[in-house]
Amino acid sequence: MIFLKNEKEIELLRESNLLVGMTLGEVAKHIRPGISTLELDRIAEAFIRSHGAVPGFLGYGGFPNSLCISVNDTVVHGIPSNKAFLKEGDIVSIDCGTLKNGYYGDSAYTFAVGEISEEVKMLLKTTKESLYKGIEKAVVGLRIGDIGNAVQSHCEAKGFSVVREMVGHGVGKSLHEEPQVPNYGRQGQGVKLREGMVIAIEPMINLGKHHVYQEDDGWTIKTKDSKPSAHFEHTIAIKKDGVDILSSFEYVEEVLNK
Ligand code: MG
Ligand code: MG
Repeated sequence: MIFLKNEKEIELLRESNLLVGMTLGEVAKHIRPGISTLELDRIAEAFIRSHGAVPGFLGYGGFPNSLCISVNDTVVHGIPSNKAFLKEGDIVSIDCGTLKNGYYGDSAYTFAVGEISEEVKMLLKTTKESLYKGIEKAVVGLRIGDIGNAVQSHCEAKGFSVVREMVGHGVGKSLHEEPQVPNYGRQGQGVKLREGMVIAIEPMINLGKHHVYQEDDGWTIKTKDSKPSAHFEHTIAIKKDGVDILSSFEYVEEVLNK
């Protein structure tokens, strides 16, 4: 069942999603070679709690931390660790969730740690662009397949591949609601987009082949060919007069542009 949100609920969702954006900005200040992924997690958890919210991922399905931190060939759901340290040339995707006033926020950004190769730079740029290509299709009357198709065509045109096993989703009083929002698909196919739908669009794009596997920890998803993967995510509301992006990369980009 798809829960449509009214204006008041969308404003509550905006609050939670803005806090995710602010948290990603706070984490961005600390991304550098030598920091452990657990330290980034601690920074995020403290920041979220100090803003009157709770981490959305902590304990969700048994997930042990506040952030999913996925380095290089880890696609998503990486578990922070005090034994994993970022190093020059890595890419690290930070996926953050919050729960505030009963509503979830969910957004992700992939960062370069110091200098990265041109090829991987292109992967990050293309994945982020594809997120916005998908968002452009989040229009009343179009369909879920139009979003996925826009993401997929943009990335495949550059020679990258789309992860199939994990998808975007509705967001509301639950972190994962219907409908599923795949990053692939055919135009005109799937659920029709309606006013009041709030969804997370989250391309997970691989430099090499699309195949992935799950590690024995039951969480970490990695590329089979060990090539890097990028992940960008916004939570958006579909409105009569156009799309409303509820999460924000502004805080991150303010830090990155310094
Ligand atoms: Mg997420
Ligand atoms: Mg999500």
